[in-house]
Amino acid sequence: MRTGKQFIESLRDGREVWLDGERVKDVTEHPHLRPSIDSTARLYDMQFEAAHRGTLTVASAETGGEIGRTFQIPRTREDLVARRQATRLWMESSFGFMGRAPDFLNATIMALKTKSAFFARQSREHQQAVEAYYLHAASNDIFLTHALNDPLPNKTRARHAQEDAGVVLHGVEETGKGLFVSGAKVVATAAAYANEAIVFPMPNNLVPSDERHALAACIPMDTPGLKVLCRASFAHPGRVRDFPLSSRFDEMDSVLVFDRVFIPWERVFLYGDIALINAMFATCRVRDMTAHQTAIRLLVKLEFIYALMVKIARALGTEETTGVSLLLGETAAQVEIVRNAILAAEAEAKVDPENGMIYPDFTALLVPRVMGPRIYGEFVHRLRRISGSTLMQAPASLDDFDSAAGPFMKRYLAGTGASAEEKIELARLAWDICGTEFGSRHVLYELFYAGDPDAIMAGMHRGYAHKDAHLAMFDRFMKG
Ligand SMILES: Cc1cc2nc3c(=O)[nH]c(=O)nc-3n(C[C@H](O)[C@H](O)[C@H](O)COP(=O)(O)OP(=O)(O)OC[C@H]3O[C@@H](n4cnc5c(N)ncnc54)[C@H](O)[C@@H]3O)c2cc1C
Repeated sequence: MRTGKQFIESLRDGREVWLDGERVKDVTEHPHLRPSIDSTARLYDMQFEAAHRGTLTVASAETGGEIGRTFQIPRTREDLVARRQATRLWMESSFGFMGRAPDFLNATIMALKTKSAFFARQSREHQQAVEAYYLHAASNDIFLTHALNDPLPNKTRARHAQEDAGVVLHGVEETGKGLFVSGAKVVATAAAYANEAIVFPMPNNLVPSDERHALAACIPMDTPGLKVLCRASFAHPGRVRDFPLSSRFDEMDSVLVFDRVFIPWERVFLYGDIALINAMFATCRVRDMTAHQTAIRLLVKLEFIYALMVKIARALGTEETTGVSLLLGETAAQVEIVRNAILAAEAEAKVDPENGMIYPDFTALLVPRVMGPRIYGEFVHRLRRISGSTLMQAPASLDDFDSAAGPFMKRYLAGTGASAEEKIELARLAWDICGTEFGSRHVLYELFYAGDPDAIMAGMHRGYAHKDAHLAMFDRFMKG
């Protein structure tokens, strides 16, 4: 375990990060990256606070020390509940707006470790690499990003069949000590201030001749040749009152470019085997654990936006009107769908006899995953509907209330049981969710963070665990 200060120190490592056309000398000093770094550091500090320590950390039989709770291998339902409480606590720190906090990939690394036997199908060394990596990550509280998608110039063609297949991350040279790789991955959230990146290909649909692209590995962000190309910043550093979310929680997304990056074999989990790389994600049951984190993260965010809607309706005196009550009722019901899906997933969790680990019920967790992209868009739309032109009455800054125009604003913008400043404060927060670039990025994030939403929805039908039971009931009806 480490403190926020230690986390920040760990980022002063000479990594190659590009933002706004310039190479960033020190990410911890960059005004547009520092707010998210501070928000992440806060999570590490929370692990040492007496009020949170028991929730956020746990003694580990594997490492022999205390580790972050989300690195823990859950064996019982109580472990899953404790895991939820830890993720919830961290997520509440950003109100669900920093989804790629360390707990997300802690779940991935832990899931891979518990299925390390899978990697032995390639070699005993690969299995050892996965196991050793878990110990390294859990003991040192490593913050990982993940980079899965390939920058396919033509999305309907296989990786090797692209006109320039070299753009897709691939092995270029094997040596006794490791593998040189080149190519790129799009996109990796938090890469600019993560410690390491895990890469593997998604979608996992590699075909014969894609062997060079069949790579799963972990790479420190300061590895020579690794370049982090940041998107435009949506942060408003220092303007917390006016941009309450984007001033602090703009998780930076980046393209990762690998220019002959060397990965030692000890960090290569799989390479060159298409069947194994395609099977890795499902066989290792990674999604069963990450979907628990993402559902809890979504729940916190939805609860927060619901509360904001209620506050705005109250400030406008519309809470009890038929129209607004209907909007709020629908919103509350959707919060409950997500909340109950998480509880159902935990209640129906089962131990996998292969590794003795307990997994939340994946069918239940698929509900937030497939409905989230729709629900979130509806939340943002409802926030606009409830707020109306109040969103357009907010001055450039809340500090303007102290200007010569302040008295007019105080009188003419007052709400119901809310001063003009209180009402406009709510409006600025709502705008950060439904109007700013940051807000827009979150709509896109909810749509795509787990992959193509259409493919996920279709997968819900194809893999629906209760389909046969429902069909059997129907057949009984037809026969009767
Ligand atoms: C804000 C944000 C943060 C992200 N962070 C991460 C991260 O940290 N790590 C990470 O690995 N990924 C991340 N992603 C990427 C995410 O995994 C991808 O967005 C997701 O997998 C979908 O891929 P895509 O964006 O290329 O869209 P696509 O899958 O290409 O979908 C775009 C559209 O094209 C259609 N389409 C695509 N291919 C075909 C085809 N062959 N035939 C027919 N239709 C097709 C789809 O149906 C869809 O309508 C992030 C994405 C966003 C938006």
